[in-house]
Amino acid sequence: MVKRKKSYIKKINQLDTLSVHAGVKTDPLTGAVMTPIYATSTYAHDRPGEHKGYEYSRSQNPTREVLENSIAELESGYKAFAFASGVAAQTAVLDLLKPGDHVIAFDDLYGGTFRLFNEIKSKSSNIEFTFVDLNTNFSKEIKKNTKMIWIETPTNPLLKITDLKRIARIARKNKLITVCDNTFATPYNQRPLEHGIDIVNHSTTKYINGHSDVIGGALVIGKNKKLEKKLALIQNSTGAVPSPFDCFLTLRGIKTLAIRMKKHNENGIKVARFLRSHKKALNVTYPGLPNHKQKDIALKQMNGFGGMITFIYDGNMSEISKFMRKLRIFTIAESLGGVESLIESPSLMTHAYLHDKSFNQVPKKLVRLSVGIEDSDDLIEDLNQAFK
Ligand SMILES: *Cc1c(COP(=O)(O)O)cnc(C)c1O
Repeated sequence: MVKRKKSYIKKINQLDTLSVHAGVKTDPLTGAVMTPIYATSTYAHDRPGEHKGYEYSRSQNPTREVLENSIAELESGYKAFAFASGVAAQTAVLDLLKPGDHVIAFDDLYGGTFRLFNEIKSKSSNIEFTFVDLNTNFSKEIKKNTKMIWIETPTNPLLKITDLKRIARIARKNKLITVCDNTFATPYNQRPLEHGIDIVNHSTTKYINGHSDVIGGALVIGKNKKLEKKLALIQNSTGAVPSPFDCFLTLRGIKTLAIRMKKHNENGIKVARFLRSHKKALNVTYPGLPNHKQKDIALKQMNGFGGMITFIYDGNMSEISKFMRKLRIFTIAESLGGVESLIESPSLMTHAYLHDKSFNQVPKKLVRLSVGIEDSDDLIEDLNQAFK
């Protein structure tokens, strides 16, 4: 098993090279350039208890190991753990806590994360959650049993941004673990470990894999032996690991992460500018627009702003539905971060759970775009004809 010590990524172009090469070695047995799919559940021992570092594929698998090393290196991390989904990775993080522990979480989160907190972990593990705007002075919410701060930046779906360095500083002072869901930004646009965050969480289903054909998740940590041991124990004991085939597909997706993110960033700003010029699109939100509320923080900690845009459609719900159905390139679908452009209504689709619980501020007429890597003129033309 390979352990590496990686220094922080110093220039953005490094990501071009790392996307292709990070964690990947030619196969020592055959010289195969691409990582083989090690479809095996178990491994021969030379004699009982003596093996080559692999015992059983829930515990270790060579294909998964390459994926984990790749994501770790891209995130400027030391160690990564791959999971069968983004929420499985998040569940593993919450398994670090004990009943009665308290988590402070950003008040805008992926709907499934909120559901995991509210329906499962607060009930099955008696973990307490407080949702706050992390951009306010939230120190008064820190209690004796507070153990963790849960961040998403940019958030899903409101694209709120919070200052990672500031949160890490507050957490260190109070001995709290910080977790950042980096799904929207990807390591190409933002690397939270470099800002002092303890655990990075990904839904690799989204930009990391990028081709809308795998469900997966990952956790990344810096050099921290205690945390590494605990997370390895949780991953092995609870067993929500990805299949070798899914690891292979995700590794294949990562090869083009940098080149895809460049195009998402380019298309994102162009489509956001077009929407801002259109009278049917109100309150267009994109971290790269000059009117974004936390634009200064975004500029400080991000290299680009990705392909996620939201706006409020100026019309009723049936007009919104009609607008979406008229689109020819954008597909009406949940999920995001794939090469193809998607559009959805968070209040009816991804965040219906939050909307039904009348929790939080997901507006009914909010429209969320995941801008893909198609030609930006084609995308703008498509939106323009659908608005008519
Ligand atoms: C999709 C998503 C998740 C959940 O990941 P799955 O792979 O669907 O389990 C978590 N966080 C964010 C920001 C997401 O977009």
